Amino acid sequence: MGENPTLYDVIIVGGGPAGLTAAVYAARKMLDVLLITQNIGGQALYSLDVENYMGYQFISGQDLMDRFEKQVEKYNIKKAFTEVKSVEKESEAFTARTEKGEEYRGKTVIIATGKRSRTLNAKGVDRLIGRGVSYCATCDAPLFMDMDVAVLGGGNSAITAAYELMSIARKVYLVNRSPWKADEVYLEKIRDAPNIERLFGYELIEVTGDDALNAAVLRNLSDGSSVTIPVAGIFIEIGLIPNSDIVKDVVLLNKNNEIVVGCDCSTSLPGIFAAGDVTTVPEKQIIVAAGEGAKAAIGAYKYLLKEGEHAIIGY
Ligand SMILES: Cc1cc2nc3c(=O)[nH]c(=O)nc-3n(C[C@H](O)[C@H](O)[C@H](O)COP(=O)(O)OP(=O)(O)OC[C@H]3O[C@@H](n4cnc5c(N)ncnc54)[C@H](O)[C@@H]3O)c2cc1C
Repeated sequence: MGENPTLYDVIIVGGGPAGLTAAVYAARKMLDVLLITQNIGGQALYSLDVENYMGYQFISGQDLMDRFEKQVEKYNIKKAFTEVKSVEKESEAFTARTEKGEEYRGKTVIIATGKRSRTLNAKGVDRLIGRGVSYCATCDAPLFMDMDVAVLGGGNSAITAAYELMSIARKVYLVNRSPWKADEVYLEKIRDAPNIERLFGYELIEVTGDDALNAAVLRNLSDGSSVTIPVAGIFIEIGLIPNSDIVKDVVLLNKNNEIVVGCDCSTSLPGIFAAGDVTTVPEKQIIVAAGEGAKAAIGAYKYLLKEGEHAIIGY
């Protein structure tokens, strides 16, 4: 517990595609790197099939992240598996405080904390999480073999969830308030599925069941009537929110709570850089996050050079 005496060149928070790439780039600049993360892989672990990461025509998110991890292992990158609660500037360095009360100090910090699922407040939802209500189709879909399920949402995550479930569940209700906003490439995959019933213009108002979910109550938004669909599973895929709380008081966020970054991944506070889904950079994709992670590490390296800490090493 308490303060760790090492002053790292760079502390990277987050072990998804952005953070792992930043770690490799920073280590190759001979910087002293500490990676603090809750897990290795981030959201990419939830992608059953990644078809748009160059060099792989098809690879699962898990396999791709295993390869990222192996590449990280080749370098002397220190790791701490925990949750960072805050990052603050103290004298000339930054301090990252964790849930366990540890304090780590760095000359620079790269925030690569990504996004998490938006939660839903409908009646019964919290009580039945893990008992039929899920926020992760990739994790929980196999539990619903030959059962009827519902997916809430209309973006890429929801359509991906429906795609995963259509070959496992008996029937999939795809429920959304408005028409789907997913990319055409995802919609195409479910277009002819005989076991997907599309219900748009509905919102979830309640889930029912004693020990386990047995039904979802939906409200028709055009006439206010309600309909009950018997389902054993409900997958809530209604969007993602940035994990930017840890720096909300020290760097500028936009109205969606994304960290505002320049094209070199710098933030409003010199010395703090940010990369990937947690930032204002458009297009939340693995390849974009990885590229931004590389830029953030180079940005941190150049910042340190200007501070006179390192000689130029080159690539
Ligand atoms: C279901 C699904 C399918 C997808 N499919 C594809 C696809 O096919 N192709 C594609 O290109 N993209 C896909 N994406 C998007 C892609 O996964 C993301 O764009 C990418 O993972 C973002 O990377 P990131 O490193 O910025 O953040 P994340 O992947 O979100 O990683 C964030 C990391 O930070 C850690 N973290 C967060 N907060 C803290 C904290 N306070 N302290 C310590 N650690 C913390 C997390 O544990 C995690 O390791 C998909 C996303 C989902 C949800």
